[in-house]
Amino acid sequence: MVMVVTADVVIVGNGALGLSVAVETALRDRSLRIVVVGSEARPGSASVAAGAMLNCFAEVTGRTGEHPASRAKFALAREAARLWPGWLERLAEAARHVAVPVRSTRGTLVVLGARSTGDGVGSMRAIRAAAEEHGEPFQDVDPYGIGVLEAEAGDQPVDALYLENEGAVDARHVLASLDAAASGLGVTRVADEVVSLVTAKDAVTGVRLSSGATLPAGAVVLATGAASGRLIEQLPPGTVQPLLSGTGVALETQRVRGEAVPYVVRTPTLVGGCGLHAVPLGNGVEYLGATNHVYFDAPAGPRLGIVQALLSGYIAQFDRNIAFSAVRRWHYGLRPVTLDTFPLLGRAPVPRLFFATGTYRDGFHSAPAIARHLAGLLTDGPAPEHDPYAVFAPGRKPIETMTVDDAAERFAQMALLVAVERGMRLPYIFGAEPIAAACRQRALECVEQLGVPVALAPEILGAVSEADANRIRQVADYLSTVATRP
Ligand SMILES: Cc1cc2nc3c(=O)[nH]c(=O)nc-3n(C[C@H](O)[C@H](O)[C@H](O)COP(=O)(O)OP(=O)(O)OC[C@H]3O[C@@H](n4cnc5c(N)ncnc54)[C@H](O)[C@@H]3O)c2cc1C
Repeated sequence: MVMVVTADVVIVGNGALGLSVAVETALRDRSLRIVVVGSEARPGSASVAAGAMLNCFAEVTGRTGEHPASRAKFALAREAARLWPGWLERLAEAARHVAVPVRSTRGTLVVLGARSTGDGVGSMRAIRAAAEEHGEPFQDVDPYGIGVLEAEAGDQPVDALYLENEGAVDARHVLASLDAAASGLGVTRVADEVVSLVTAKDAVTGVRLSSGATLPAGAVVLATGAASGRLIEQLPPGTVQPLLSGTGVALETQRVRGEAVPYVVRTPTLVGGCGLHAVPLGNGVEYLGATNHVYFDAPAGPRLGIVQALLSGYIAQFDRNIAFSAVRRWHYGLRPVTLDTFPLLGRAPVPRLFFATGTYRDGFHSAPAIARHLAGLLTDGPAPEHDPYAVFAPGRKPIETMTVDDAAERFAQMALLVAVERGMRLPYIFGAEPIAAACRQRALECVEQLGVPVALAPEILGAVSEADANRIRQVADYLSTVATRP
């Protein structure tokens, strides 16, 4: 066994979350020896693939206010929105003499396409209500007069609104800025992979690397994104819920015909986390995203049928001119998704182990707020009287925001939305109910396979429906272990 370095804090994972926690912690306590482990290529990183929309109100749906966990998630997003401008300045200062320009875009146009009204109308209504309640400026936009879009006939937007304070950053630039800040603050980088946690007397005391070396640590933070599942599986059964991968494809294209979007253009959040967005990257380059298909075991690359849906959806619903654009680059990233779709933040039920993952669709945006939360815990600052993110404690039972029947209904809604977006039109003599009923039945069968009645989000039920017998058994074992917990 080779000992390479002893650290106060080892952060496993070098994506937006791991690096943000490292930088914020180093800024708070310069005396701490902080190590970040992760290979430079960042395999599977969601952060590298992200559109990095800094959206809070644009993410709101009719369900945001319904459950304390959803409200806490919204509070986290609002806190992050408040922190972002100062965060970029602090990163630049910490990087000292290394100037890393970060491209950012202000303004987000949310457009509801004619095919997404089934679920999207509720989201548009909820965005307006939340913006009004919190005094967030927005403007209603005439959906028939949006100059920057040219949807295909029959697919034009039917509703639109503009949020002037929400926009995007270039994720690749921010990662470079985080790298520079970490190095300016003396954070040690280890380009390796953690294969296991080292424990002694039930506490985590370090990590073991693929090179065979061990890093002893006062505290270990898991910020390993979708790959966190592999390390979670090494903990005693029932300690932390399983993690899935929300696979996402996006592409960067160069405009040939028409103008690149001048600000973020996106659809509202739809059931199952579906949606399209375009982010300007400068000089006629656009980021077009993103698919979201959740698996227990992500395939090495995206399915062609899923990529096809992204491209045809974008060309039909946003701008047919994009069909002439030149593809510059593809992104394929794995979003870290928990069984209950809420993040894992803070202290694990294992001494000296912390989590900063499970951020799913908006972890890039939340990173500065999560970093503050974790840095507070790692530097032993005064414990807040009320911890607004206690609901995201890694050792919780899966949060259920609905009943099992509601979950089956949402699964059916998701299936129908996807079918309609992909052009399904039934003859007038049929209603969609027989299809919805079959989908509800399929969802209930998935829950039954798990052995414990649990209300899962539709995209998680989709992952269950595609999982192999081993995974099903593993999740069923986890659920039965935690079932009796309060
Ligand atoms: C296509 C797409 C679009 C998105 N768009 C947005 C958006 O617009 N706005 C937004 O806020 N969010 C967006 N997201 C979500 C966001 O990217 C994630 O929530 C967030 O970036 C997660 O960051 P992370 O650091 O936890 O994970 P990652 O970026 O995945 O980083 C984890 C890192 O840990 C490394 N690692 C894994 N296992 C180990 C190990 N055992 N040892 C060492 N290192 C390890 C990985 O290689 C990786 O570099 C998007 C995601 C995708 C895929």
